[in-house]
Amino acid sequence: MFGEKFQRKYALSDQGVVTTKKGTFWTVVANLVVMMGMGILYLLMMQFMDVFTGSAELPDAAVFCLLTLGFVVLSFMVHFQQYKATYGLVYEEVKAMRLGLAERLRKLPLGFFGKRDLADLTETIMGDVNRMEHVWSHVLGYLYGSYISTAIVAVMLFVMDWRLAIACLWGVPVAFGLLFGSRRIAARNAEVTKAAGLEVSDGIQEALENIREIRATNQEQRYLDGLNAKIDEHERKMIKGELVTGLFVNGASVIMRLGVATTILAGATLILSGQVDFMTLFLFLLVITRIYAPFDQSLALIAEVFMSEVSAGRLMEIYDTPIAEGTETFAPKGHDIVFKEVGFAYDDEQVLKGVSFTAKEGEVTALVGPSGSGKSTCARLAARLWDASAGTIEVGGVDIATVDPEVLLTDYSMVFQDVTLFDDSVMANIRLGKRGASDEEVLAAAAAANCDEFVGKLPQGYDTPIGENGARLSGGERQRISIARALLKGAPIVLLDEATASLDVENETEVQEALSRLLQNKTVLVIAHRMRTVEAADKIVVLSDGKVVEEGAPASLLAEEGSVFARMRQLQLASDQWSL
Ligand code: ADP
Repeated sequence: MFGEKFQRKYALSDQGVVTTKKGTFWTVVANLVVMMGMGILYLLMMQFMDVFTGSAELPDAAVFCLLTLGFVVLSFMVHFQQYKATYGLVYEEVKAMRLGLAERLRKLPLGFFGKRDLADLTETIMGDVNRMEHVWSHVLGYLYGSYISTAIVAVMLFVMDWRLAIACLWGVPVAFGLLFGSRRIAARNAEVTKAAGLEVSDGIQEALENIREIRATNQEQRYLDGLNAKIDEHERKMIKGELVTGLFVNGASVIMRLGVATTILAGATLILSGQVDFMTLFLFLLVITRIYAPFDQSLALIAEVFMSEVSAGRLMEIYDTPIAEGTETFAPKGHDIVFKEVGFAYDDEQVLKGVSFTAKEGEVTALVGPSGSGKSTCARLAARLWDASAGTIEVGGVDIATVDPEVLLTDYSMVFQDVTLFDDSVMANIRLGKRGASDEEVLAAAAAANCDEFVGKLPQGYDTPIGENGARLSGGERQRISIARALLKGAPIVLLDEATASLDVENETEVQEALSRLLQNKTVLVIAHRMRTVEAADKIVVLSDGKVVEEGAPASLLAEEGSVFARMRQLQLASDQWSL
C-alpha cells in the first residue's frame, strides 16, 4: 500500500513514507480505542438488562468507574501518539522538500526555466509544498488509518450479524464510489483554478516589472482593468470548484448516513421475526454513531487529496526533469569551439539544423544573420546552457555534453545584452566575476573596462549601491560593468551579445575600447549587430533559418559574387539602419 507509486502520488520523501505509516498505525489504534468505548457501554447495558430481568445483582459501580477511567487514560495516550505521529514530523518533511527542490532547480538545464516561469516556480516551492504539507499532516495518516480501522470493525460486525452489517455499511462504498467518480471533475477544476491563479500572479509580476513603462505610457488603468478581470476569473473558478466539490462531498455524506435508517428498519424487522435480539441491534446502533465519523472527515479530506494530486504532479515534474550532468574535470587541449552537425529545438520547431563551424582560439568569430536565424541559440548551446539535440559541440576536443555545466562555465565569460546586476555596490557587482578577488584586482578590471570615468561621478565611487538590477545606471554603463566582470574572470572563451540599442555614440566608443581589451587572445563568439564589429572579425558565420549559409573571412565573403553577406552589407549601407 505504501510502495513507490504511493510515494510518487503524494510526492513524499523516504522519511515521509515512514511518517505516514506511523500516522496510519496510530490512527487505526485510536479509532479502535474509540470503538472499544462503545464496547464498554454495551457491557454496561448488558449488565443492566440482566438486573432488570432479575437474573443478576446490581454490578459493582467501582468496576465500571475504573474501566471508564482506564478507557479515558488510554484514549488520551493513543490520541496523543496519533497527534505526534501525524503532525510532529511533517515540518521536517516540508523543509526537506523545499531544500531538495532548490538543490534540484540549481542543477536543472536552463531549458526548463523557459517552460516554467518565475511565478510558476515560486508557486510550486511555496504554494504546492504548502498544499502538500496539509495533505501530509492532516490527511494521509488519517485517511488510510480510517480505511483500515473501519475494515476491521466491519469484519467484526459481519461476524456478529451479516444482515445488519450490510444495512449499516452499504452506504460507505456507494459514497466513496460517488466521490471517486467525481475525481476527474475535481482534478480538472483544480487544474483550471491553478492556471487562473498563475495568470493573476503573472499579471502582478509583469505589472511590477514594467511599472516604469506602464506609467510612462499612461497605461495604468488599462493594466489594472486587465488584472481585475484576471482576479475575478480566478475567483469564479475557485467558487465553482469548491461548489462542485461541496456538492459531491455532502451528497456522499448524506448517502452514508442513510445507513442509520436502514439499520433501524432492518433491525426492527429482524427483531419482530425473532431472528435478532434487541442487544445486537443496540450494539449496532452504538457502533453506527461512531463508524461514520472518521469517514465524514475522510470524505472532506479525500476531496483535498484529489486536488493535491495536481500539486504533487507539479512537484514531481521538477524531480523528473533530468539534470545536466557531467564530469567534474575539464581539461581541453586549447579552446577552439567546434560545432558538428548541431541540431536543436526549443519546443517542436527545429531552430538549428545541422550547424557546423569552428570558432578558433585567438580569433573573433562573428555570427550574423537575420533576427530569429538562431545566433543566440548557438551562443547558448556553446556554453551548454541547453543541450544540443543532435550533433556535438566540442571545446578543445572535449564534447561539452560530457562536462558538468558548472565546471564548464568556469572557462566562459558571457557579456550578454541583458546584464544582471544585483542591488549592491559597483565593486561587489564586478567582484562577481571572480570570487575572492582583491580590491586591487577589481579596480584594475574596472579601469580596463572604462568604468572609472562614470563611477567617479557616483556619490560614493565604487562603493555606491546601484539599485535593483542597476536601475541607476545607463545601458552603456551596465554593459561596462559586465565587461569588467568578464575581464576579472579572465576566462579563455568569451561569448558576446552585442547590443546597440541602448548605447549612445560616446558610450559606444568607451564600450568598444573595453571590449577590445577583453577579447585579446580569447576564443570569441560574438552575436554581431554592428558592421564595424563584423568587418573587424577574423571569421564570419552567416546563419539563415537555422542553417549556416556562408562562412569565411569578411573580405573574401564580400568579394564573392552574390554572397548573402555582400547583400546584407549593401542593405545596411543603403538604410544606415542595419539590424542583423
Ligand atoms: P537570433 O539570435 O538569430 O535572433 P534566436 O537564436 O534567438 O535567433 O532564435 C531562433 C529561433 O528560436 C526563433 O524562432 C525564436 O523565436 C526561437 N526561440 C529563441 N529562444 C527561445 C526560447 N527560449 N523558447 C522558444 N523558442 C525560442
